Amino acid sequence: MDIGGTKCAVCLADADGRIRTRREFATQVERGPEAILSELEDTAEAILQETSTGNGGLIGIGVSCGGPLDPERGVIQLPPNLPLWDNVPVRAALESRFPGVQVRLENDANATALAEWRLGAGRGCRNMAFMTVGTGVGGGLILEGRIYRGTSFLAGEIGHTTVLRNGPLCRCGKRGCLEALASGPGVAALAQESVDYGRGRALMARVGGKKASITARDVVECAKEGDAFCAGILEEAGTYLGLGIANLLMILNLERVVLGTLAVHAGELLLKPVREAVSVYAWKPIAEVCSIVPAELGDRAQDLAAVSLWMQDP
Ligand SMILES: [Zn+2]
Repeated sequence: MDIGGTKCAVCLADADGRIRTRREFATQVERGPEAILSELEDTAEAILQETSTGNGGLIGIGVSCGGPLDPERGVIQLPPNLPLWDNVPVRAALESRFPGVQVRLENDANATALAEWRLGAGRGCRNMAFMTVGTGVGGGLILEGRIYRGTSFLAGEIGHTTVLRNGPLCRCGKRGCLEALASGPGVAALAQESVDYGRGRALMARVGGKKASITARDVVECAKEGDAFCAGILEEAGTYLGLGIANLLMILNLERVVLGTLAVHAGELLLKPVREAVSVYAWKPIAEVCSIVPAELGDRAQDLAAVSLWMQDP
């Protein structure tokens, strides 16, 4: 089960991660957790009946949801995209509806890291970080072949490490966070500020002269068409991303860093400056054992995040 602010999905998958059936519905957050949980349960039950699987045929139920949440107690603790979910005991609810079936709850960044590690770009390594580079810069860590959650389940928040003193304001309230400089909105903001000096004509033409409507996607598309100004914006964001990753590598000596969303869309336009910055800011023997690669699971990542919670360790 994937619980999101916009949509929820329920999948039935094999133990090797092959999805056999999938249903999706609009979350409609204003309904509150009880109604949404009921729809998740009803959907799961319908799938089990149609496929003649039954509770006994299940290895377990995996639930992926935005944090904060407590994976040990199975409780969702007021994520920003689910404003009414204040201390909702998801695991207890599902275990009472599906007796005899175990439930695992994990935050979506950790679960996606697990999915990329088991099925995607992280296959075959023991120490990796996964980072989404989308609306936010979220992260999940796999260390020595296991999810690393930290003391209060907040490990991996690389997006909110400081990479520029007195830098732009981040939505978390701090200044100069990696997320404020290298997320989708960070890239858009950088482009919007920089077009002021008569530069970025191709980008302005693309958005019909409306500076405020420039998005990261516009910057990427324009850069792909060979526009040097937009390539420069991605280089700037990629350099900050690389600086943040270098700091992470100096602490964790990772084997692989898997980058999602913007890195997948922009490809080498973003990855090249990231790797260059890593080689500047991390020691050579640390940088050279780590490959920095785009995520592989794409649109399937959210479903596979929940599924991977019950897959065998490779
Ligand atoms: Zn922040």
